[in-house]
Amino acid sequence: MNSRWNDAEAAQYPGDLGQRVYSSRLLGRDSALVLHGGGNTSVKSREKNIFGEEEDILYVKGSGWDLETIEAAGFSPCRLNHLLKLAKLPELSDLQMANELKGCLTNSAAPMPSVEAILHAILPGKFVDHTHADALIAITNTAGGLNRVQEVFGDRVVFIPYVMPGFKLARLCAELFPQKATGKTIGLVLMNHGLFTFGDTAKVAYERMIELVTLAEAYLAKNKAWELKSPAPASPPRPARLEIAALRKEISAAMGGPAILAVQGTAAGHAFARRPDVATISQQGPATPDHVIRTKRIPMLGRDVAAFRAAYQAYFDACAAQAGRKLVMLDPAPRVLLDADLGLCTMGRTAKEAAIAADIYHHTIDIISRATALGGWQALPALEIFDVEYWDLEQAKLRAAGKAPAFAGEVALVTGAASGIGKACVDSLLKRGAAVVGLDVNPAITKLYSRPDFHGIVCDLTQEASLATAVEEAVRKFGGLDMLILNAGIFPPGAPIADMKSDLWHKVMSVNLDANFLLLRECHPLLKLAPNGGRVVVIGSKNVPAPGPGASAYSASKAAVNQLVRVAALEWGKDRIRLNSLHPNMVFDTALWTPEILASRAKHYGLSVEEYKTNNVLKTEVSSRDVAELAAEMCGPLFAKTTAAQVPVDGGNDRVI
Ligand code: ZN
Repeated sequence: MNSRWNDAEAAQYPGDLGQRVYSSRLLGRDSALVLHGGGNTSVKSREKNIFGEEEDILYVKGSGWDLETIEAAGFSPCRLNHLLKLAKLPELSDLQMANELKGCLTNSAAPMPSVEAILHAILPGKFVDHTHADALIAITNTAGGLNRVQEVFGDRVVFIPYVMPGFKLARLCAELFPQKATGKTIGLVLMNHGLFTFGDTAKVAYERMIELVTLAEAYLAKNKAWELKSPAPASPPRPARLEIAALRKEISAAMGGPAILAVQGTAAGHAFARRPDVATISQQGPATPDHVIRTKRIPMLGRDVAAFRAAYQAYFDACAAQAGRKLVMLDPAPRVLLDADLGLCTMGRTAKEAAIAADIYHHTIDIISRATALGGWQALPALEIFDVEYWDLEQAKLRAAGKAPAFAGEVALVTGAASGIGKACVDSLLKRGAAVVGLDVNPAITKLYSRPDFHGIVCDLTQEASLATAVEEAVRKFGGLDMLILNAGIFPPGAPIADMKSDLWHKVMSVNLDANFLLLRECHPLLKLAPNGGRVVVIGSKNVPAPGPGASAYSASKAAVNQLVRVAALEWGKDRIRLNSLHPNMVFDTALWTPEILASRAKHYGLSVEEYKTNNVLKTEVSSRDVAELAAEMCGPLFAKTTAAQVPVDGGNDRVI
C-alpha cells in the first residue's frame, strides 16, 4: 500500500483541523482501509472557551460523515478532560455514553461524536487514525490470528482482544494500553476489528498506518495469501428476469416491504459463489462486526428464502436468550445472496443500501479468500456479532431512521427518459425514493445521472429483441418492476391525410403504438410480481379526446394506445395491476416542441408564441414537471383504488371540457 501524502497538497490545509481533514480524506480514498463510514480519526487541539480559558478539545469524526469526503464541520469538538474522566468510570451504558458524548460538545450543532471517541481520547499522540484495513482483518480472522499479528508487528503495536466497540472497549484499552505500551509503540491492534496509529503530526500518524498495513500485506504475500486467483470471466447470463423478480418478491415479504435485489454480475462474485468450500467459508460470519448491520451475519446460500428466515429466527432466539435482553427482531431478510447461477446479489430497502452491501461483500470476499489461503478463515462467534446487530445504539438509530419515502424499494421503468416529460418522470420518481431505469434511444441516457438508484439503458423500442434485453438488464439491476411509465413518442411534422406517406404513418405507429404493446406484454409477468401491485401510467395526449387536423398518425396512434390500456386494465385487474392515462397538452419544454414546430402551430391558430403557450382555460403554462408529478402520484396511494382513468393535464381545454 502506497502513501498518498503530498507535502504541497497538505500545505493547503492549514491548522490542526485542516491537517486532520487532509489526511482523513487520504485514508478514505483507500477502500481497502475504510469503507462506507468505517474507520475514524481525531486530533487533539487547544482552544479558548467563552470565558477566555484554555481548554483541551478532541475533534473526532462525527457520525454520518465519510472520511473520503469529510470537511471540518464533520469533526465533533469534545472536551477532552470529560472523555478522560469517563474512561475511568467502572460502567457506562450505551445510552448513558451517547448522552455524555453529546453533552461534552463545545458546539451544540456538531454531529454526534463517533462511539470510539473515548478510545481516541486515551491514546497518545495529537493525531489518531483508525481503519478497518482488509489485510489486517484477513490475518486476525484466522486460527492463531493473534500469533500471526504479533509476528507481523512485533513490539511496535499493542494488541487488544476483541470487545464490541463502545464503552467496554475504551475502558479495556484505557487499562491495558498504559501497561503494554513502550517507547517503540506506534499503534494498537483490535483483534477482528481494526488498527489505530498515532503521531504528533497528521503525516506521521498517516504514514505509520500505511507502513503497518503494508507489513500486513507483505505477510500475506510471503504466505502466498495475497494474490487472488483471477477468476474466469462469467459466462454470458441466460435470461432469468422472472426467477429474479419472483425471488425478490419473497425477499420483500421477509423485509416487510418492497426490496431492491441487485444482481452484481461480477467475476469475483461468481467465482466465490461457485467455490466448492463456499458453504463452509461464507456461513461463519462477517469480516468485521460493523458489517453486520449492512450485510446481516451471513449471506443466503442459494434461493431458499424460507430456510434463511427460519435460520435467522433460530439465531435470534438463541442469541437473545443468551444475552438475556428483551429485543425486537429486525427483519429476517438476507442482504447478501450467493447463488451458483446468479453469482453475488445484494439486497436493501433502497438501491443505495444494496450498493453499499455489494461494496462491503466484495471486500469480504477478498478477506475471506486470503484468510482461507493463510490457513483457515475464522469469524467471531455468533453472539459477538449479535451484540453489534442488536446494540441499543444501533436499534435506536434504526428507529430514528423514520418513515421510508413513498416508493422505497420499488423499481420504475420510464421510456423516453433522456429529456422532457420522461426525464421529469425520472426526477419525480427518484424524489419519492424509487430506483429508476430510464430507456432512451439517445445515448445520453447512460450519463443522465450517476447515482446508485438510477440506471440508463440505450434502447430502440421498435426493436423487439433490444427491448427484451433492456427489460432483462433492468431486472438484473434492481430485482423487478413495480411501475412502468410509457412516455416515449414521436410527433411528426403536420401533414393532411391526403399527403400522408405510408412510411411516416408506419414509423409513428411503430414507436407510439407497437413499442408500447410490446413493453406491456414483456412487463406484464414482472408487474404481476410487484410486492405492492404493479402500476402503469401512460402519457397520452389531448389529441385522444380532441384530435387536431394535420396530426392523423399521431392522434390515431395515441388513441390506439389509449384503447390498448383500457383493455389491459380489464385483463390485469385480477393481477393487482392498475393502469391510468394522462392527457397532457401544450407541454413546451420537451424535445417534441422545436422552436420551428412551436412557431408553425402558433401561426396555424393565428396567435403569438406567448399567447399560444397559455392558450387554455386557466391561462397557465403546463410544464414537464407538472405532468411528471401527476404521473408519480398516479403510482402512489392516492390512486390506489383507480384504474383506467384518463386525467387531462392541459390547463383546461374547451374542446375536452
Ligand atoms: Zn472501528
